[in-house]
Amino acid sequence: MSSVEQIFRCRECGFCCHGETTVSLDDDDIRRLVDFLKMPLAEINKRYLRQSGKVTQMKIVDGHCIFYDEGCTIHPGKPWRCRQWPLHPAILKDENNFRTIRESCPGISKIITYADFCRIMADLPEDDY
Ligand code: SF4
Ligand code: SF4
Repeated sequence: MSSVEQIFRCRECGFCCHGETTVSLDDDDIRRLVDFLKMPLAEINKRYLRQSGKVTQMKIVDGHCIFYDEGCTIHPGKPWRCRQWPLHPAILKDENNFRTIRESCPGISKIITYADFCRIMADLPEDDY
């Protein structure tokens, strides 16, 4: 049976939490954040989020997501795109996507072939990633 450890194990390097932007949050992400932080939405918006048109993202502080502090400080409440990363479905469509994502994430197996990666990832139960 396929398991996520065959293709990926997070090294907790924090690379995916750094940069000038973060993932965008959808309504479920916001609800999860409210539940996790136990704070009114208006307070969360003011402290942690930024709005660009219709896109809501987390604020960036010192070049990383505001929730990053040598690891994700909101792990159970983090956005689904953070939860999914780096096992993004785009990997299954294009080997170049796979190579680009693997270059930016040291947690992806360096020895696995693209074909094996796709086969294992397609076989994973959705809850696994
Ligand atoms: S870049 Fe990959 S290995 Fe590093 S923290 Fe993010 S998911 Fe984990
Ligand atoms: S929410 Fe957590 S996992 Fe997502 S970018 Fe911020 S620190 Fe990283």
